[in-house]
Amino acid sequence: MGFISTDLISQIREQTDITSIIGSYVRLVSSGNSYKALCPFHKEKTASFHVIPDKQIYHCFGCGKGGDVFSFIMEAEHLAFPEAVKFLASKCGVTIPENQDHQDTRKSQQYVFLDRAASFFQNCLKESQANHARAYIDKRALSDDTVKKFRIGYSPNSWDSLIKHLAKNEEDFKILEESGLIKSKNEGESYYDVFRNRLMIPILDIHGRVVAFGGRVLSEEDEPKYLNSSETETFNKRRMLFNLREAIPLIRRQNSVIIVEGYLDAISLWQSGIKNVVATLGTAISAEQIHILARNCEVLYLCYDADTAGQRATIRAISMQKDAPVNARIVAFDNPEDDPDTFIRREGPENFKKLLDNAKDIYTFLIENRTRGLSSPLEIPVKEKLIQEFKELVPAIHSSIARSEVIRKISKLLDMDSNVLEKELTGKEQIQEKAVKPGKNLISPRLNAEIQRQEWVLKHLLEKPNRFESVRSLLGPSAFSDTDLRKIFEAMSFQQQASDYSLRPAEILSSLDDPALASRLSELITTLEDRPDEPFMDCVKGLVKNHFEFELKEIQEEISKAESQEDYLMVARLSQQQIDLKRKIDMLY
Ligand SMILES: [Zn+2]
Repeated sequence: MGFISTDLISQIREQTDITSIIGSYVRLVSSGNSYKALCPFHKEKTASFHVIPDKQIYHCFGCGKGGDVFSFIMEAEHLAFPEAVKFLASKCGVTIPENQDHQDTRKSQQYVFLDRAASFFQNCLKESQANHARAYIDKRALSDDTVKKFRIGYSPNSWDSLIKHLAKNEEDFKILEESGLIKSKNEGESYYDVFRNRLMIPILDIHGRVVAFGGRVLSEEDEPKYLNSSETETFNKRRMLFNLREAIPLIRRQNSVIIVEGYLDAISLWQSGIKNVVATLGTAISAEQIHILARNCEVLYLCYDADTAGQRATIRAISMQKDAPVNARIVAFDNPEDDPDTFIRREGPENFKKLLDNAKDIYTFLIENRTRGLSSPLEIPVKEKLIQEFKELVPAIHSSIARSEVIRKISKLLDMDSNVLEKELTGKEQIQEKAVKPGKNLISPRLNAEIQRQEWVLKHLLEKPNRFESVRSLLGPSAFSDTDLRKIFEAMSFQQQASDYSLRPAEILSSLDDPALASRLSELITTLEDRPDEPFMDCVKGLVKNHFEFELKEIQEEISKAESQEDYLMVARLSQQQIDLKRKIDMLY
């Protein structure tokens, strides 16, 4: 993580007191072993924000935000992690040693070289070697102002023009390589330019620094069509959004953001006056990117090329969004050949705004998209196929209100009883769901007994890390059927082995990259007082047994399949596995 040593981070953590830090932002009221306050991150009338001094963590049951002292400062002060570390270091009088500065210097050298590269590409665009690049810009109808504003450039069709321009000594080669601009071959014997004969679009971070480039092909035989810088210290694709810096004030003002796939789409919309636009740097939007956007606005317009591979992944990522409910809508073009750029150039911004007004919420879109052209009433096999598809999606919808709304819509479209559908999709009756109070969905009865058991085991291990040893041979990640819990278990078990068998909740929290996971963990820690109904060891065995039984069921299915294919060798092999597994289950007790 980052470039500040973990030792230093631990030192700062040990010297700060989360209660006094958070106490300087909100009024904390003591309540048993913890403190309560009105949440600083969402509007509320009754306090659901908790600080647990013992564990040095906080968690809000209203909005789900939670973490350690570093994540609090990041959130409250809008800082990146390294800046939050510095902020706290100065508060508790820890000095960040020289070599950290050295690393800072290295990073800032990368910024300098990335910026120089951008200027170099800009200049190259003016030369005669870039005639075809300028012709392409004309074809896309980008104005001179736009080209200048986005610092669009051209990378010459040669293996070493950037190297010749920027690298003066060994050190320069190293920095250029670390910045993702050049690559070495024959183990550092020689280097070559990464971007050749491409239209170059610099990618800027939120501070306006060039951190990477996107290069579009100019000659059809070149591959790939879009080439992004590889990930570097300064460039994390999952967190980066093209044009975010410019768009953010408008995103906040309009309370909405338009998300497109390509930088040229974003630039084109911007030029025509639609400025609350960002581009993702891959096909699917990441959980981190949604998190960043959801902090700044409520409505997300997804304006992707029709039916891309990323569309479903995107819908899923949005469904799982936990911290702030977002209203995600899909902007669809009537003409499947259209993309945002072609549309806006032909139809203009007013018609584009009409498209936004008609954008459908993601679930309606998905249903309509899958049922288009099918005769009504839908035939049973069609319905079954659709239900199968929604089965993957609906249980992942985090908000219970959104979930029941979606179920209502699907049941209407499929002309099905909503109770039957709900049971089919989630394995639960709708009646249960109605008892869930809004805002309480983080501790809702969505947790069935099995998930609760998995949570109990994790809570117990958090409380008594020494018990890790007694279950290590028995309990593996696969025993956790809930993916979030599985990842948390993996992080805990890694942390426990890496840190001399102690387990500091705050450290596990900082090791989790995904804010949704961190929120789930802080929720677990905050509710530690819940005692398992059954003894810990029974709980663990129960989990393991369930997992084995699930495997048994799968093997049984394979056996039936092998039998029907008269593959008796396979049947024999699987039967052996079955016996072994049954023995393992017997051995548990
Ligand atoms: Zn909150």
